[in-house]
Amino acid sequence: MISVAIDGPSGAGKSSMAKRLAAELGYTYVDTGAMYRAIGLYALRHGADPHDEAAVAALLPAIRLDITVQDGAQHIFLNGEDVSAAIRTEEAGMAASAVGTLGPVRAFLLETQRALARSRDVLMDGRDIGTVVLPGATVKIYLTASAAARALRRCRELREKGQPADYATVLRDIEARDWQDSHRAIAPLRQAEDAVLVDTSDLDIDESFAALKKIIAERTARPA
Ligand code: C5P
Repeated sequence: MISVAIDGPSGAGKSSMAKRLAAELGYTYVDTGAMYRAIGLYALRHGADPHDEAAVAALLPAIRLDITVQDGAQHIFLNGEDVSAAIRTEEAGMAASAVGTLGPVRAFLLETQRALARSRDVLMDGRDIGTVVLPGATVKIYLTASAAARALRRCRELREKGQPADYATVLRDIEARDWQDSHRAIAPLRQAEDAVLVDTSDLDIDESFAALKKIIAERTARPA
């Protein structure tokens, strides 16, 4: 099985790149952030503080996550409900980042993620895929961009959706999430030693895609 791990901070373009690459290469795209978001959403809906380990751990036995791929897009079901759209709010993102610091949550998701990679060729994105989830991944990429570049892109996306976008607020949220993701005790965001670093601050979407495609092709080429 081939596994491509793409890690990096929020807003670096991991999921849009990963989706496009997976479609082109015929691999299954696994968005692990969606799993943390679904647990964060569940905690919010049940009035649990997403930072409270005991409260969130107590909810886990009642959570069933199912992942399906429809027309190339991943759908995530939380106890049978398709929450693919509901998990995309800033609030769910912050809750995901909070529950992602908790050991019981990471242990809960680890085996699900590894099992997906055992059964098929995957392109998995997250924060700890190359370092913890799939340390033996065929290809590891660390995709990043400056916080300013990521905030600008996020503002553009929000405006395109007709939603208000205040650059200073978006930048502050990105920096807060970066700090939380890279300073947590368990599985912090960091570049694996054998990951290839790709900084897209000065690259557009097509240039970023071409750079990633080349790295994957070089590392998955089978001898003739
Ligand atoms: O990638 P996305 O922004 O959807 O992830 C939401 C949050 O989930 C991240 O900020 C991070 O804290 C957490 N996460 C994680 N480990 C992963 C994927 C996401 O801790 N593998």
